[in-house]
Amino acid sequence: MRQLKRIAALLLICTLTLVYVPRACATAYDDHPKLVIILILDQFRADYLERYRADFKDDNGFDLFLNHGAWFPDCYFDYANTKTAPGHAAIGTGAYTDGNGIGSNSWWDLARNKKRPISAVEDERYALVGMPAGEKTTPGASPLNLLASTVGDELRLDTLGQSEVFGVSLKDRAAILPAGATANGAFWIDPVSGRFITSSYYMPQLPAWAEVFDDSGRIVQARQEAGTMINTGNFFNDVGPTTAAVGYELDFAEALITGENLGKHETTDMLTISISSTDILGHRVGPDSPEQRAMIDAVDANLSDFFAWLDKNIPGGLGNVWIALTADHGVAPVPAVAAKLGLNAAGIDMEGLVKDVNDAMNMKFSPGEQVEYILPDQDLPYLALNPPAFTRAGIDEPEAEDAVQRALPAAFADLRNAIAPPPPAETPIGAPAPPPPPAMSKLPPLPRLYRSYTRVQLAQGQVPPTEFGRLIAHSYTPNGGWYVMVIPDAFQMGGPGRTGTNHYTPYSYDRHVPLALYGAPFAPGTYRGRVQPVDIAATFASLLGVNQPSASVGQILVQALKPASEVKYPEPASRRRVRRRGRPTTQKSNASEKNP
Ligand SMILES: [Zn+2]
Repeated sequence: MRQLKRIAALLLICTLTLVYVPRACATAYDDHPKLVIILILDQFRADYLERYRADFKDDNGFDLFLNHGAWFPDCYFDYANTKTAPGHAAIGTGAYTDGNGIGSNSWWDLARNKKRPISAVEDERYALVGMPAGEKTTPGASPLNLLASTVGDELRLDTLGQSEVFGVSLKDRAAILPAGATANGAFWIDPVSGRFITSSYYMPQLPAWAEVFDDSGRIVQARQEAGTMINTGNFFNDVGPTTAAVGYELDFAEALITGENLGKHETTDMLTISISSTDILGHRVGPDSPEQRAMIDAVDANLSDFFAWLDKNIPGGLGNVWIALTADHGVAPVPAVAAKLGLNAAGIDMEGLVKDVNDAMNMKFSPGEQVEYILPDQDLPYLALNPPAFTRAGIDEPEAEDAVQRALPAAFADLRNAIAPPPPAETPIGAPAPPPPPAMSKLPPLPRLYRSYTRVQLAQGQVPPTEFGRLIAHSYTPNGGWYVMVIPDAFQMGGPGRTGTNHYTPYSYDRHVPLALYGAPFAPGTYRGRVQPVDIAATFASLLGVNQPSASVGQILVQALKPASEVKYPEPASRRRVRRRGRPTTQKSNASEKNP
């Protein structure tokens, strides 16, 4: 009995200690900061910020980071499949594809769909919520394929769901993946109508504030602002590539913050925002076009308005918000632009490549037949095989992938010959072939295979022990079926069209993205030296006092952290009121140092 009393007394002391001694550091648990925002620009290379810095209009858009934040100009993804879904997943989870499972925007998974590749976030077990009446609502969407937790998930776990986490984008994958499995909600648009929707994975119906936004006439306004003469009836295609869509998306983010009271809870809230328009436009016109420059300037102006809005609407203002700025991937120059400067920037005829490899497989395994060994709708860097076709021919996965890998050099040679046929051999038999006449101007760029890896090689870690090998190892995904990873030379890509471009490679232009941190703990400055986007989740988890995401490989950006004693947050009016009603006042003395 006496022992029980002693334990009870001990528990009481412990409880009182927990209540009365202030925490050593500000963390999510004492709502410092009120709100964390991970701001992702879809397809945005870090060099844009240096290139167009003189354009930026005031001190509150990109300059908030460049002049008042910790700015890392040398941030590179450390993997080779630089596409939208894996990039967003990497930012949220602090892990690459080998950790979070997201290898591409879509992939063949014949167990789930035999007719087409599945998207990274589609989920037939759920329905879309908020679609216009009469429109198809299935499949729904979820983070089903995401194999790791996000920093938002860890925040939700550690606060037992008190912290609220949301994701927003025009694209489903960009809203869902960075926020994570425990997110309270993710919102993206129905491409046709432009209405913001969600999935029954999160909620059975749209929140009232979202319905109000969708019905507010904002869609019509965005169409008018876009001023496009083109009206294909698809909001994503018509308005998405215009600057009007940036304001449209950020207005929805403001409606969400207000509607869900983000920044007004007892623990820290988190919002991931992915601005899609930079990517939708960028694919069409390339990174060096005047159109993309105008887009970047518009993003700057819209961010300035958004940050000013946050300053007014988050308790205590912008000083109570942390913002990370980054991108899901960079982009290659338009091949014609790069080729004009002398690079071997060729477009790759993907249909021709697939046909050639498929013909080689038929010749090897089923002569005279037309079996579909390689699946259609291919999207580099992964070339998806058709396992049932190989199985019927008695070929297992290692042999099938090995055969495809061996067929690739000849298939690339055929693509080259289609562009620049070799001169006809008219040399008499026995005589040495004359050297080809020297070219008097630059020859056309030619597709060339740099490296390839089978799924089996990746799963077994059979990559070179080099920097390049690490990029490849980080690109392994267990999602989907059999595949071979195909890496052409730098500046080459499948089907960019005449003015378009793409991103999907291990090359630096696809991996170079901004990383900047704004907020109380970050010492303003320019920090040279390699960092990675996965460092954001690691750094935020550390500062919020929560666990690292389950597969996190990021480093904590300690070089940009102020000493804890110098980190100050504005005191929101609401907090002062709460404390007067009963919670103890934070001591001004250094009492916190006694409880490290
Ligand atoms: Zn993207």
